[in-house]
Amino acid sequence: MENKYNFKRFRRLRYNPIVRDMVRETNITKNDLIYPLFVVPGENVKNPVKSMPGVFQLSIDKLVEECKEVRDLGIPAVILFGIPEHKDEKGSEAYAPDGIIQRAIRAIKQEVNDLVIITDVCLCEYTSHGHCGLLDGEEILNDETIALLAKEAVSHVEAGADMVAPSDMMDGRVFAIRKALDYKGFTKIPIMSYAAKYSSGYYGPFRDAAESTPAFGDRRSHQMDIGNIDEAIREVEADIEEGADIVMVKPAGPYLDVIREVKKKFGMPTAAYQVSGEFAMIKAAGQNDWIDEERVMIESLVSIKRAGANMILTYFAKDVAKWISAKG
Ligand SMILES: [Zn+2]
Repeated sequence: MENKYNFKRFRRLRYNPIVRDMVRETNITKNDLIYPLFVVPGENVKNPVKSMPGVFQLSIDKLVEECKEVRDLGIPAVILFGIPEHKDEKGSEAYAPDGIIQRAIRAIKQEVNDLVIITDVCLCEYTSHGHCGLLDGEEILNDETIALLAKEAVSHVEAGADMVAPSDMMDGRVFAIRKALDYKGFTKIPIMSYAAKYSSGYYGPFRDAAESTPAFGDRRSHQMDIGNIDEAIREVEADIEEGADIVMVKPAGPYLDVIREVKKKFGMPTAAYQVSGEFAMIKAAGQNDWIDEERVMIESLVSIKRAGANMILTYFAKDVAKWISAKG
C-alpha cells in the first residue's frame, strides 16, 4: 500500500520477536547485579524478613552457603550488612577485628574466592540508638563519626573485603576512608560511595532486616531531601573529589532522573540501589496477582539501567540471574 502521508513505520522492527531483541538498546546482564545480604550472630540461623519475601537474616555458616549459590548463579558481587551481637553508643562492633562482618568476610573468603565482597560502612546497625554516628545529645557528630567509619572500613579490608561502601552520608567520610586505606597500604581497594542517598520512605523494610531503626528522630540531618537534584550533583562531585571510584544513587526507581544526570555529568561507574521498599511493593503486588511480578521486576531493572546505572544493588539479583539463565 502506498504511504501517501509519508509517515515513519516504527512498527517494522516490532513484528518479529527476534528483530525486537536485535534492536533492544538496554539489556540486563548478570554482571549488572550486586546482591545485598544480612548477617546475624548464631549458627544455623535463617530468619525470614517479613516485609521482604525471599530475603533472610543469615548466620555466618548459612551466609557462606548462600554466597556459593550466588556465585554459582553467576552473580559477581554481594554487599554485606551486619547485625552485631551487642550494640553500644559507639557502635564498637562495627570496627572490632572479630566483629560480625569481619568474621563473615573471613569465612566467605575461605570457601568462595571468586565472589567480590563489598561491605556496607556505617554505624547505624551497631549503635544502641540506631543512628549513623556518634551522638552529642540528639545531634549526630560529623567529624568524630568519620574517624570511626575510616576505622571500620580498614577493619573490613583487613578481614578481606574487596571493596567498601560508605552509606552514612557524613561529610568528608570518603576522604577519611581513602586516607586511612592508603595509609595501611590498601591503595588498590575501591570505594563505592553512597553519594546521593535520599531520606526516603522506601527504606522501611530494610530497617526490619538490618534492625537499624533509630530510637528517636530520623535521618534527615544527613540524608538528602527528596526534592533536590542540584544538591545531588554537588554531593556526587564532592565524593569523586574525595576519592570515590564508584558513585551510587539510592533509592533507584523513584530517582531515575538523578541517575541519568549523575551519569551524564560525570561519566563515572554509577551504581543504583533498588531499595527494600521498591522490592517489597513489586513482591506484594505480585503475590496478590495484581501485577506480573517477573515482568515488572525486569522492567524495573531495565529502567534503572536505561537511566544510566552500570550496576544495580537489588534483592531480585538471584531471581534475575535465574531468569537470564533460563532465557539462554
Ligand atoms: Zn546508617
